[in-house]
Amino acid sequence: MLHDTRLPGQVPLTGIERVARIAADHADAVDREGRFPAEAIAALREEGLLGAMVPVHLGGHGATLATIAHQAQRLGRACSSSAMIYAMHQIQVACIVAHGLDQPWHRDFAGRIAAEGLLLASITSEVGIGGDMRSSLCAAPAVDGRVAIVKQAPTVSYGEQADAYLVTARRDAEAPASDQVLVTILKAQSRVEATGNWDALGMRGTCSTAFTFAGDGVAAQILPVPFAEIAADSMVPVSHLLWGAVWTGIAVEALSRARQFLRAQARRQPGVVLPGAARLMRAAGQLDLMQARLHDLIGRFDACHTLGSERTVVGADEAGWPAGMARAATLNTLKHDVSEMCHQVVLQALLICGMAGYKNGTEFSIGRMLRDILSAQLMISNDRIAANTGTLLLAQRTELGTL
Ligand SMILES: Cc1cc2nc3c(=O)[nH]c(=O)nc-3n(C[C@H](O)[C@H](O)[C@H](O)COP(=O)(O)OP(=O)(O)OC[C@H]3O[C@@H](n4cnc5c(N)ncnc54)[C@H](O)[C@@H]3O)c2cc1C
Repeated sequence: MLHDTRLPGQVPLTGIERVARIAADHADAVDREGRFPAEAIAALREEGLLGAMVPVHLGGHGATLATIAHQAQRLGRACSSSAMIYAMHQIQVACIVAHGLDQPWHRDFAGRIAAEGLLLASITSEVGIGGDMRSSLCAAPAVDGRVAIVKQAPTVSYGEQADAYLVTARRDAEAPASDQVLVTILKAQSRVEATGNWDALGMRGTCSTAFTFAGDGVAAQILPVPFAEIAADSMVPVSHLLWGAVWTGIAVEALSRARQFLRAQARRQPGVVLPGAARLMRAAGQLDLMQARLHDLIGRFDACHTLGSERTVVGADEAGWPAGMARAATLNTLKHDVSEMCHQVVLQALLICGMAGYKNGTEFSIGRMLRDILSAQLMISNDRIAANTGTLLLAQRTELGTL
């Protein structure tokens, strides 16, 4: 790695190196065949990493967000799809650990995630809503102690392979689109019918197919706090920070290949100034900026959120963790910028490597990474994020961009 992103207090990274090696070995085949990275996900399960964020007393590792981010970044270097699946899974675990453990059903479920290595998928986007996570058309009314949902889902990553789904829906059929709940539905309680395929430009191993999803269970499977709170406190922060870790992992790998390419050139032409060296410097600077922003925000998040760990944390104010509109603006801006800058870094890596990077199957190939990183700007559209966040910034009174 070009940069060491480890933060104080990280638990040992048991097994992630083995998972990364397996993921890298299969990454090209996963991409070419557009198939689920079964080998890497099996290795994550074997290493107990799917339950990494679950508290130790429930059988997990009690990992901090910094640890998970480091692992996601490491996997991002090896196989973008495996890394994104790992990140998406951990985002769901974070929501359960932060908001569900006071409720017996979700406490038992957290124990099962750790014991059985359950893989969790997310169904927030919806046909007719697009990427606006804070709106739903479908409803999940609790009636006589039961809950049932039918949702037209345009993009469900690893929907066929997941063991459970966290689904957003309106509280009931009369509720406004933004009055949402988050419901955990087990695979055995659901019927998923594919309504499309996933022959995509990149992130091909995520198998993010369109589904008609139908599921039911007991009312206790509805997380006990409104989704508005879960989204603001956990899902959005953890998503943007872990996605950032995955995307910077892809960019680090691309730029590391470019540096290797330049080193080989320098050995062949000693004393010659390589035009690619200037590109390497600019791209490494962009990586540094992104790593610094991620490092800072992950550190502030961990300073005031225990997640599954038993650490002492401080209040949000003391940790410097923003609240309300400022938090949304900070995290949205981070997601927007990291997704664009990672694309620029990968593109610079391609320009440095030239044809060796353009061709598949060389040690300097950049094509898969370039296709994968393009998803970053769509995964909640940057246009949508920029329009919403720009409006938030108009309303804020704090100075912009001061130290
Ligand atoms: C690899 C990958 C995996 C995914 N996995 C999942 C998953 O597991 N579960 C899940 O629920 N979702 C998943 N998604 C979906 C994702 O989270 C977004 O919901 C989705 O990418 C948005 O789809 P969209 O671009 O069609 O829709 P929209 O967000 O509606 O955007 C469509 C276009 O309309 C424009 N637009 C829309 N609204 C605005 C606005 N307010 N201001 C300006 N322009 C606007 C933008 O130009 C945008 O490109 C995944 C996406 C990707 C790329």
